Amino acid sequence: MRVVLATGNTGKLHEFSAMLAPTGFEFVPQSALGIEGPEETGRTFFDNALLKARHAARISGMAAMADDSGLEVDALQGAPGVFSARYAGIDATDQDNIQKLLAALIELPIEQRVARFRCVIVLLEHPDAEPIFGSGEWAGRILLAPRGSNGFGYDPIFEPALSETGAYLGLSAAEMDSAHKHQQSHRAKALENLRYTLEAQKLLANKSP
Ligand code: IMP
Repeated sequence: MRVVLATGNTGKLHEFSAMLAPTGFEFVPQSALGIEGPEETGRTFFDNALLKARHAARISGMAAMADDSGLEVDALQGAPGVFSARYAGIDATDQDNIQKLLAALIELPIEQRVARFRCVIVLLEHPDAEPIFGSGEWAGRILLAPRGSNGFGYDPIFEPALSETGAYLGLSAAEMDSAHKHQQSHRAKALENLRYTLEAQKLLANKSP
């Protein structure tokens, strides 16, 4: 099945294609069809992923997939959340967002800087279909200062926790190599979750009379 991917990010295109290879999906980036993303007016990651997928599916008439993600900090009641990309303003750079977040947490000791990345991925088989979705989170904490130069966004101030023990990694996400990050991240978990859902539906469909 050909699926429009509602992103202009080529990194995501490769990640999605690799993780969902067993499904036989062939991804076409929406930019290749001249589709621009809609305004992200949703209040949750699911709302935004759904509106991006619905927009791409309606314009193309094809199946569409979209993701939405961001950082939630417990001490800020989940902010910046869906506003992660524009936390310091509509044209904010990653640096601006990092500086604003560090300033908001300046009084907080390291033990109280618990946070997580969250990602929701939505698949619509056609423009009016019920959404099929997967979600994932990557637990960690916000460092006192940026470290490392890999990745993007808030990676330099996010120290992941190990899923097995909960102990902190000792590296920021920007100090991890990209292959390691892509195995553990919220996006990888959401993709895996979506893949299980698709496989379960396929198994159920094959069993029905
Ligand atoms: P989007 O879902 O690609 O629009 O991402 C929203 C924003 O969340 C990004 O601009 C980043 O600021 C932040 N974000 C999402 N995923 C990551 C990540 O893996 N590392 C660092 N920042 C991220």
